[in-house]
Formats: sequence, structure tokens, C-alpha cells
Amino acid sequence: MPMVIEGSHWLGLDYLFNPQKRLYWGYLLSTAGIVIVYCLLKRQPITSTLDKKIWWHPSARLDYSYFIVASIIKMSLLLPWMLGVGEVTYWTLQLMEALLGYQQKIIIDRQWVVLSYTLALFLLSDLSRYCLHRLMHTIPFLWKFHQVHHSAEVLTPVTFYRVHPLENFLFGFRYALVTGFITGIFIHFYGANLAILDIIGVNIIVFVFHILGDNLRHSTIHLGYFDTLEKWLISPAQHQYHHTVTGTTVNYGGILSLWDRLFGSLRLSSQEDHYHYGLNEITTRFNSVWQLLTQPFILLKKER
Ligand SMILES: [Zn+2]
Ligand SMILES: [Zn+2]
Repeated sequence: MPMVIEGSHWLGLDYLFNPQKRLYWGYLLSTAGIVIVYCLLKRQPITSTLDKKIWWHPSARLDYSYFIVASIIKMSLLLPWMLGVGEVTYWTLQLMEALLGYQQKIIIDRQWVVLSYTLALFLLSDLSRYCLHRLMHTIPFLWKFHQVHHSAEVLTPVTFYRVHPLENFLFGFRYALVTGFITGIFIHFYGANLAILDIIGVNIIVFVFHILGDNLRHSTIHLGYFDTLEKWLISPAQHQYHHTVTGTTVNYGGILSLWDRLFGSLRLSSQEDHYHYGLNEITTRFNSVWQLLTQPFILLKKER
């Protein structure tokens, strides 16, 4: 790999060219388009979204430097330990065969297999994200680490990556478990000729949500959907409310708000118009890259 490309890989700068990442240039471009339409409809000057007080706020600047450091940590320390989807798929296949014995493959139209595999991956991935996110809030040990994300005082698309490496590890572990498990089940019943419906390598359902402005969740654009839709899909304003000092007990959903509705943690954006981001805990300090990385451990030690 040429040195320049390898360097950008380690620093996370290749995210701009990776459709699996929210900062992919195509998603940023579609987000910009949505922002322009939003401003025109609200009769708000487009320049108001470029406010230096937000983009150059100490909290936003910390997000930018943390993004680079966290990316190096991910590449050097986390990746080598990360559980692989292939391993989980293999274990699931072994388990299925031990439990049910050899399965004669079910022959159905391939398009139905592809469609149901795509849907199963999306639904179970989103549900497991909801569950883990909720646990990050409700288990005191995990909250120490998830506070890093909630310590942001202003939201920009880069805030999405203000996540402690331990949380990155847990979400990576969840991804491998869920994807590997579903893949194993499908291979057991339908054979290894699997594929998902995708656009440039991304699950088509996830791609649509990225194009529709996932990046606005961490932004100053309070885009809410009407109440009925917000009972199914998390709007940017709903995730922004989750970032307020009083909103951390609601709206844990990734893409679907359905889980929030089913498990009693849904709050609609029409119920709220006050957005004050950050943490309640005034004794906690997350003001530097070093503090973002070490503060959770200091908090844990203090409790002992
Ligand atoms: Zn949270
Ligand atoms: Zn967030």
C-alpha cells in the first residue's frame, strides 16, 4: 500500500471515501442538499449553519483531534483483537449442525433469500444497537465510558466519532456476533450462496438512511419528523434530545425508533424545544483528548 494511502487509513481520513462510514463524501453531499432545502423552507440564511461558534467551539475542536487519535487507537490496538464475522459464522454453523444435524438445503427463489437476509441483518443489527446503547446508559460501569460521547457541548457530524475505544470495541463485538450469527443461520438453511441487496457495498436500507441525512443527528439542524413517523424512525431532533442533560433516558435508537416505542423509551421531538447539550456531572471533566481517554478509568477508581 503506498505510504500516503496507508497514512490516511490510520488517521481515519479514508472515511471520506468509504461508503460504510457516515463521513463518506456522498452522504456529506446529500446532507448539504437537505440542509439547503431545510433553510429555504424555514426562511433561515444558509450561512447560519456555518456558525464559527459551533464549528470552532472548543468541544468541536476536541472532536476533530480526538477523531484522529481514536482512529490510530482503533487501527493499532482494537483491530487486532476484534472478533471476526467469519469466526462467528463458523461457530454458528457448527452449533446448528450439532443441534439439528445436517440440513438438506431449502430450495426457494434466491431473491427471497437475499431479501430476507438483508432485512434480518438490518433489523437485528438495529435492535442490538438499541440494546447495547441502552445498557451503556443503565449499567454504571458502561456509563462511565459512554459519557465520553455525551460530554460534547456542541454537535457536529464528527461528534459521532467521539466514542471511547472500549465502546468502539463493544459495538464491534456486537456487530460481529449479530452478523455472524444471522449469516450462520442462513447458510445452514439456504446454503452459502448468500448476498445482500446493496448499493456500493452497503446494505440498501442502511444506505438509504445515510443518504437521507444521518449526519444531521449531530448538527445544529433540529429536523424533526411528524409524530407518526417518529414512532418508527429516529429523527435528527430526537437524537439531539438524547444528547441534552435531561434526555439521556430516552431515544436510544439507531435508525428505528420502533424499539424505543416497544420498550418505553420514546420521546417525540414535538415534546421538546430546549436543547442544552453535555453532562450533568459538574465534577467530570472531558476537556482534552487525554481526558476523554482516561477520565472513565479515573471515575472508576474514585468509586472504589
Ligand atoms: Zn447515549
Ligand atoms: Zn450521538
